[in-house]
Amino acid sequence: MLLIDTHNDITSRTVDGYDIGKAKNDGHTNVTALKEGGVGAQFFAAYVAPEYVQGNRSGQRALAMIDTVRHDIVERYPNDFVLATTADDIERIHRQGKIAALIGIEGGHAIEDSLRLLRDYYALGVRYMTLTHTNTNNWADSSGDVEKSSIQHHNGLTAFGKQVVHEMNRLGMMVDISHVADKTFWDALDVSSAPLIASHSSCRALCDVRRNMTDEMIAALAKKGGVIQINFNCGFLNSKSAQAAKSVQPSTLPGARGEDATIAEYRKKVPPATLADVVAHIDHAVKVGGINAVGIGSDFDGVFCTPAGLEDVSKFPNLTRALLEKGYSSEDIRKIYGGNTLRVMRAVEAEAKRLQSATR
Ligand SMILES: [Zn+2]
Repeated sequence: MLLIDTHNDITSRTVDGYDIGKAKNDGHTNVTALKEGGVGAQFFAAYVAPEYVQGNRSGQRALAMIDTVRHDIVERYPNDFVLATTADDIERIHRQGKIAALIGIEGGHAIEDSLRLLRDYYALGVRYMTLTHTNTNNWADSSGDVEKSSIQHHNGLTAFGKQVVHEMNRLGMMVDISHVADKTFWDALDVSSAPLIASHSSCRALCDVRRNMTDEMIAALAKKGGVIQINFNCGFLNSKSAQAAKSVQPSTLPGARGEDATIAEYRKKVPPATLADVVAHIDHAVKVGGINAVGIGSDFDGVFCTPAGLEDVSKFPNLTRALLEKGYSSEDIRKIYGGNTLRVMRAVEAEAKRLQSATR
């Protein structure tokens, strides 16, 4: 079984010196736990916090985050990780018994409105980019601030935003619609000539938050061959957790200074979601989009609360067991765990080849 998790934020800590090789460290992710969990390929987030927009520091931060994957994870632990940039790489590295490490940018402001930076990131190994994080940028609206009237919105993607999607298609970088506003999703779906992913999103029908996808969105994403990779954040899985999480005003994001206080407050106030919630979201997405449209995007080390039974990357076998108990066949689980994501990667790679030969 090849398990591909499309979103992990341990990079926000490794960039500050956290050692991913140290077992029983205090995060959700370390080398031993990844192996216990049977993770075959991990997309590490090159997360660029919205604060970096101020003073045009997003590019520098993106480079630092890319470097922490390449340097602090892959280069530091060559017996455990190999950098992967294609679907074939993932399969080959998995056969070698190592973990394929991939890079996805989180936050389209990372390109500082420059297609040249986008191309540079591709050259450094980046294979997906979320068009936004929680902030609307100069070319795409975000779900994180779409209701704030003080923010200047674009009604989805601007003309330049559409160019960004086209260039991602041409390069062979997956267009990731996690975090974007609904209209941005519909624009991206319309404009992209390759399937899209939602690298770490869950179902709005089960937990009504804007970060999750509506059934209409899941069905349309699936129809164009895309995949929704289910997020394990308590506040995206369970309505009670989501409600309680609203009362916690995070003083910071995970991985930043001051997170200990926020985690303590979460533990006090937010009832954790459960393994059953994760199964329910997977099951709902399968019912709406089909068995070929669902994947795994845990968001481990990017969230303050993880489900009981799926506390960290070592606990994936619990999910496998729960899916089998729910009636999923091993063939179904193979698709959800990695087959569907590999298929999108191959489709994106093929479309890039086609576009590049057409313009040559
Ligand atoms: Zn995220």
